Amino acid sequence: MRKAIIAGNWKMHKNNQEAVDLVRDLAERVKDLEVREIIVCPPFTALSDVSHVLEEAGGDIKLGAQNVYPEPQGAFTGEISPLMLKAIAVDYVIVGHSERREIMEESDGLIARKLRAVLDAGMVPILCVGETLEEREKGEARRKVEGQLQADLAPLSEDELAEMVIAYEPIWAIGTGKTALPQDAQDMTSFIRGQIADLYSDAVAEDIRILYGGSVKPGNISELMDMDDVDGALVGGASLKAEDFAAIVSFQA
Ligand code: PEP
Repeated sequence: MRKAIIAGNWKMHKNNQEAVDLVRDLAERVKDLEVREIIVCPPFTALSDVSHVLEEAGGDIKLGAQNVYPEPQGAFTGEISPLMLKAIAVDYVIVGHSERREIMEESDGLIARKLRAVLDAGMVPILCVGETLEEREKGEARRKVEGQLQADLAPLSEDELAEMVIAYEPIWAIGTGKTALPQDAQDMTSFIRGQIADLYSDAVAEDIRILYGGSVKPGNISELMDMDDVDGALVGGASLKAEDFAAIVSFQA
């Protein structure tokens, strides 16, 4: 049985005090929900303070970062290393979000190095994959996702893959209010599971958790979670309000 994950990606929102207020409010609202794994991914500037709040709250909310640089230290001005994240109790790192692939022009080669660095530091990468609207309309969605998986996962062993989480995030659904139909989310998450089985094994494919992301809200989470291969959600906009995120986390199975 794969435990559901609901992860909130706060992107470039919330200053330090706002982040602390949000996570305090959230921790209070979700304190009895042990059947779900809850992750918040604040911006770098708030990670340390949010980490302290989560430790004090003593609940089960885990801390995630939105990005990382794949070197332990050195002359990489402006970057943050996996070891720095690990030192402030970060457990998860989002890798290959479409905003970083598109706006910061991150390549699959860099993403593959980040996955390795996150795993080497003892954290769990959440690898994002997904197609543009144009690719979907041309019938190329599967080919795009297959290519991303092959390139990004290439250096990883089966044991390492078993530690990871994958998020299917169709780019046309991110921040647009257009959620994928539950069946479309199911088709692609099931396709991803099949790819993992082909690249590694049935056992790891069966165990790996695959999330859906793209305009998830309190009103659509249950129908998405009804899909067999959707094991959770990566939530952007709706994770910025404690009330909405708590409602998503509390979805009815
Ligand atoms: C995201 O950024 O990962 C995301 C899914 O955003 P939103 O929920 O706002 O579409």
